[in-house]
Amino acid sequence: MPAAAISSEILAKYEPVIGIEVHVQLLTATKAFCGCANHFGSEPNTNVCPVCLGLPGALPVLNAQAVEFATLASLALNCQVRERSIFARKNYFYPDLPKGYQISQFDKPLAEHGWIDVPTPDGSMKRIGITRLHMEEDAGKSIHDGLADSATHTSLDLNRCGTPLVEIVSEPDMRTPDEAWEYVTRLREIVLYCGVSDCNMEEGSLRCDVNVSVRPMGAEKLGTKVEIKNLNSFRHVREAVQYEIERQVELVEQGTAILQETRLWNPNENRTYSMRSKEQAHDYRYFPEPDLPPLVVSHDLVEATRKNIPELPVPRRARLIAEYGLSSANATIVTATISSANEFEASAKKTKNPERFANLLVNEIGGRLKALDLSPDQSPVSMDGIVQAADLLEDNKISSKQLKQLFDVCFEKREDFGAVYAREKPEQISDTSALEKIIEDLVAANPKQVEQYRAGKKTLAGFFVGQAMRATKGQANPALLNELVTKKLEG
Ligand SMILES: [Zn+2]
Repeated sequence: MPAAAISSEILAKYEPVIGIEVHVQLLTATKAFCGCANHFGSEPNTNVCPVCLGLPGALPVLNAQAVEFATLASLALNCQVRERSIFARKNYFYPDLPKGYQISQFDKPLAEHGWIDVPTPDGSMKRIGITRLHMEEDAGKSIHDGLADSATHTSLDLNRCGTPLVEIVSEPDMRTPDEAWEYVTRLREIVLYCGVSDCNMEEGSLRCDVNVSVRPMGAEKLGTKVEIKNLNSFRHVREAVQYEIERQVELVEQGTAILQETRLWNPNENRTYSMRSKEQAHDYRYFPEPDLPPLVVSHDLVEATRKNIPELPVPRRARLIAEYGLSSANATIVTATISSANEFEASAKKTKNPERFANLLVNEIGGRLKALDLSPDQSPVSMDGIVQAADLLEDNKISSKQLKQLFDVCFEKREDFGAVYAREKPEQISDTSALEKIIEDLVAANPKQVEQYRAGKKTLAGFFVGQAMRATKGQANPALLNELVTKKLEG
């Protein structure tokens, strides 16, 4: 269906309603209910035992660290933690679920009634509700391709069985693909700041299911919702939501009923397609897990955990803007992870002008890293190197053009800034009398241009600046040079 054919006028008649479920694997040393290593990338079927394989008679024992991590995440997401929550069995058959059920939480989840604030295009914040956060365990993995016999066989890796998860369910509070993107991005940041998950989407430690419906603008009643499952990148979240809104609006406009169904996003074709309809949906037959007592999280544990919440991204951003004069865009980038925020602050304290330092870090270094597809820890220029560069610029000892050239050399030769600067030692000419002398010579040698300038052709100032720059081999302080040229020509 050519969803792009929907006009913006027609789209504007409808209000999309979006809710998101996020599964996050917890970064515990061992699994949720047994002592097996919780580790991605081990040899298949090596981190398994009778408990996570669901062998008869094996009994689960809850991992205390998983409870602490889930509680910390709940509090960071402004949820109320239930003192007594209940584990439940979610029954279904799948080859990568040897027990035949998943231990989850159903009607009494660990935490409820939370929220996070996300930025909106007009610069204000919008509050997105979080319905619940519950604990559960992951299933194993079916491997359909990449092995010698994949054409005829599906293989199973059960290492992931029993990995502790939290599922975070939002209220249907989002209205645009961008809001959905902001929600998952800000949620991930908070979880990362708490250190309870690595949120690595490529390895599946963070996965999203998105619910989308549309209703006529102003209507109370919700439209039929469609679930898009297993989105494994935030770009796909945004694209799938956009596609799904247009698909549903087109159906409603045609008078066709929307099926309540589960769909999958195909990133190669940029479309969703049906996976199963509601009639085929599971009835999980939840019942309380008989092998685990109720989970009790005491008031004392909640209060002790609350003290462990780090300064979270939104307040931290606001503080960096206030304390260091950062732009909102730069503050967002340097606080993307808690370690980048800490590194920024440690260096900002050493530099003369933190905003200048932030600009170099984000634009000059960040831009080069991005162009070369490198991660920040692969940068040849250390934070101290950027501090040195920012201060040289601040003191007018080098021009920004010279600085760019030095950074280029750093990246070409994979050397830190200090070493490159010590070797190349470019100098900026900020000596007023030396520059005045050069300008005087140029004015004397180009009387026609001077005359035209004084007759009103002010753009000719650029000609003199360019000539003077050439005469100094690009080492003149550009701001000072501009000022002196204008003064001379006007005088
Ligand atoms: Zn195990």
